[in-house]
Amino acid sequence: MSMAHRVLRRYPRTTVNRFQEVVQKFDYLLVMDFEATCDRHTVLNPQEIIELPCVSLSTSNWKIKDTFHAYIKPRIHPKLTPFCTELTGIMQETVDNQPCFSDVFSRFREWLIEGEYFDNSDKSSFVTCGNWDLKVMLPNQCNLDNITLPDEFKRWIELKHTFCDSTGYYPRNLKDMLTRLDLPFQGRLHSGIDDVKNIVSIIQALKDKYNTQFKITSSLTNSALGLSNHKRSGVTI
Ligand code: AMP
Ligand code: MG
Ligand code: MG
Repeated sequence: MSMAHRVLRRYPRTTVNRFQEVVQKFDYLLVMDFEATCDRHTVLNPQEIIELPCVSLSTSNWKIKDTFHAYIKPRIHPKLTPFCTELTGIMQETVDNQPCFSDVFSRFREWLIEGEYFDNSDKSSFVTCGNWDLKVMLPNQCNLDNITLPDEFKRWIELKHTFCDSTGYYPRNLKDMLTRLDLPFQGRLHSGIDDVKNIVSIIQALKDKYNTQFKITSSLTNSALGLSNHKRSGVTI
């Protein structure tokens, strides 16, 4: 038997991938979605984070490794508006006995250390839907609580941008991405943990259908981080 035949027998055609799977830049995608205090007609000043969910998704098996989930008692405006409860499903009782942001953020950073997600700076990246979470909300919240914003939170993957790169269509929101990918909606829109689960499904579908490579799209300080080639994608909210 010739060498070629032996090779074919050992690697039958049916097991050969349709496409070569792209090499991913990050070992873990940390999917995150804040919920914050809000009102119907005005933007509260300040807005405060009341839910912090984060799921770590491994890019070697595309399974969820771990979940961090906490509710937070807002410090400046401790009473939620009826609109906020209606929008997010978060009730007054849900936040009343919870720790404040600085305590939860410390626990979250410990969780990141225990999971070894940032052993080196290129091992993991946060993924959000929209730039609001890391461009606006977290810097403002850290400012409010006198916390120095850690470097890990200064660059991220904005999923609508990635979705557009892969599909050629710029989606309006989370629901739009689910619809376009034929995915069912899980849970309740604007519940942080459910939004995260839906984002995870979108990531998995993009990888399956489009062989998407997940890379940094946005940052707080493009030039300082040497990401000048991503400048165009980093400026929108
Ligand atoms: P989301 O991740 O889309 O669920 O939204 C994050 C936060 O943005 C919410 O917790 C609210 O504080 C605010 N937000 C989202 N949608 C609205 C809206 N329609 N009106 C007022 N605030 C909103
Ligand atoms: Mg969100
Ligand atoms: Mg949300």
